Amino acid sequence: MNNIKFQNYSDLLSSLDGKEFNDYIICRCPSCKVKEAFIYKSSNNLKCNRENQCGENYKIEFIEKNQELPKFKDDLKVERDKCFKFINTMFSEQYFDHIEDLEVNNYRGLQNPGDIYKIDNIKGLDIKNPQGLYEYTIKTLKPMLSDINQRNIMHCLRNENGKIETILLRGDETTKLKIKEKQIKLVSNNIDYYNNFKDDSNKIFLCEGMTDAKTLEQKYNDVQIIGLTGVLKQSKMLNYLEKNKNKNKEINIFFDNDKAGQNSSENIKNKLQKQGYKEIKIINNYNSFKGNDINELLMNGELNSFCKKNNIDDNEKSHLQNKLTDNFSDNY
Ligand SMILES: [Zn+2]
Repeated sequence: MNNIKFQNYSDLLSSLDGKEFNDYIICRCPSCKVKEAFIYKSSNNLKCNRENQCGENYKIEFIEKNQELPKFKDDLKVERDKCFKFINTMFSEQYFDHIEDLEVNNYRGLQNPGDIYKIDNIKGLDIKNPQGLYEYTIKTLKPMLSDINQRNIMHCLRNENGKIETILLRGDETTKLKIKEKQIKLVSNNIDYYNNFKDDSNKIFLCEGMTDAKTLEQKYNDVQIIGLTGVLKQSKMLNYLEKNKNKNKEINIFFDNDKAGQNSSENIKNKLQKQGYKEIKIINNYNSFKGNDINELLMNGELNSFCKKNNIDDNEKSHLQNKLTDNFSDNY
């Protein structure tokens, strides 16, 4: 990581053409000069969001004494709490009949992936204006909200207790959005990755995105599956894995076969090795296949042969099941 120095905070804003938001600053990347870099107030890092073209990372320093980034003020706590309650009531099992119709069948080749909803379909409720959610998103995302009407796909990220802490808003296949995904956090220290929390599995499949995670989950329902919401958003996921006591778990990393994906796979592999994990495999040999990520393989009908070629098998449970079926067919 490079260091980058500024006189003070206002020098930072003017040199980088920065714009301050609630908990982050959007600015021009010092390396590629595109205004797609982020500084989170909770960190002293500047990250370029153009993962495949640039993706530079800087540590921020101030020359003047006692200068620091402005502190994150959670002045939206009331709206956030309201929204958290609203969403978690709405999307609880108790209300399951109500939300069944919202589940997206055949979204990116997936059959009823859990917790991905087509929000246009909400019965009797205008999702573009549900109490709480709208009020909250308007206030947090106001400057970036111009395209909210095109965002009709909602992914929910739940914590270990099943509570929804984060909502990802996307568009369906027909929409062309400049920023693919917008995240709404419903608690301040929100979970920012997908985890099915199947802790008793002896394997973890780690994916770069939600749709890849859901794709593997459809095929391997006994495996613990984790999906990031971007290759750079790793720190909370890494903290989770560090706390995990069973370091004998095998971790398979299924990141995209592009520059950002390859670099991040290696980077995460090193970090996990330092945490004590011994069996870590990077699976990104896409050479003879149509597609550059797991979900594209599914859409192109190549997922099964890809998994076979990479010797990815299910847990023991499924082995047992296969054996039973084999025996059965042998006998009859
Ligand atoms: Zn850049």
